[in-house]
Amino acid sequence: MSDLDWFQRYSDGFQGELRYAEPLSRHTYYRIGGPASIMAFPKSQPDLNWLKSGIREAAIPTFVLGLGSNLLVSDEGFSGLVIKTSRLDLAIETFPDPDRPEGLILRTGASVAVSSLLRRAAQEGWSGLEFLAGVPGSVGGVVVMNAGTHLGEVKQKVHRLSSFLWKSGATKTWSRSDMSFDYRQNHFLPEDAIITSVEWRVDLHSSESVKKKIEETLERRKATQPVDYPSCGSVFKNPGAGQIRAWQVIDQLGLRGFRIGNAQFSEKHSNFIVNLGEARAVHVRDLIELAKSRAKEELGLHLEEEVKFLGKF
Ligand SMILES: Cc1cc2nc3c(=O)[nH]c(=O)nc-3n(C[C@H](O)[C@H](O)[C@H](O)COP(=O)(O)OP(=O)(O)OC[C@H]3O[C@@H](n4cnc5c(N)ncnc54)[C@H](O)[C@@H]3O)c2cc1C
Repeated sequence: MSDLDWFQRYSDGFQGELRYAEPLSRHTYYRIGGPASIMAFPKSQPDLNWLKSGIREAAIPTFVLGLGSNLLVSDEGFSGLVIKTSRLDLAIETFPDPDRPEGLILRTGASVAVSSLLRRAAQEGWSGLEFLAGVPGSVGGVVVMNAGTHLGEVKQKVHRLSSFLWKSGATKTWSRSDMSFDYRQNHFLPEDAIITSVEWRVDLHSSESVKKKIEETLERRKATQPVDYPSCGSVFKNPGAGQIRAWQVIDQLGLRGFRIGNAQFSEKHSNFIVNLGEARAVHVRDLIELAKSRAKEELGLHLEEEVKFLGKF
């Protein structure tokens, strides 16, 4: 039986959508990436159980995809199963916070896009997540990455999260004290965890004040980041203990504006590598390797990627 036979044979048991040889360039902010052998869009918990059986029976490499905003996929694509979480749980609801009468617990399905969440937060006056304005990920993705800016990080606001473990089929809930985050990473989620929902602690303010904070953050981003070109945001983490920022390293190496093919260290923000049009993954990867090796040789600095890779490079 080939990797895909099981999925084709038992597809009646899946309520979501399955696509074969699906170009991943359609699912990444970079608009780069070859095909996934199979891509699944689960809609429910039974769908996740069905996928668990398929992964075990077909012994197929598996990757969980949020909105693809922090991902570089190889030009050859990914020989395996990509589980795209965008249709799994789109609920947004609030509950009283038993520990803080002035606050709320906000429960969001992991499929919710940050932009939709913040639009709703602005309407309702839910304050605390404005620092995520302009981060183009899903709720699941921002937790995995402990996304944030100088204004705050996910780890400060996340209260509880639920996940499905695709190796065992178990569901697991993590409370705040079980979670451990660091700069743009987490240390507690096992590799087979699919985050299904997240609870946040937020405050109740006026709708106008939340809206204003979000708009100011978006304006600042527009002024400083190359939002007109596809990218993955910051390519490198800031090195060391934060005494120098990754964009300053790129600048010191004279790489601002440097390009290979149609991939370029942005003129506007040099820690962004932008796709000027039809850029290839290998060219983005070459720029990354160039900056890493030169930073090490010329400045004695280790640049570590913030972007995640999928497929062979
Ligand atoms: C223009 C631009 C600006 C950006 N600005 C910022 C910024 O200011 N700060 C910042 O921190 N990041 C920023 N990013 C990067 C990116 O938006 C974040 O890393 C975001 O958290 C990624 O979310 P995603 O849903 O797109 O995840 P993906 O890119 O799809 O995946 C990222 C990682 O999360 C995992 N993952 C995603 N969803 C789930 C899930 N439900 N369960 C388990 N694993 C999952 C994936 O396997 C992968 O390892 C920016 C990106 C762009 C394109």
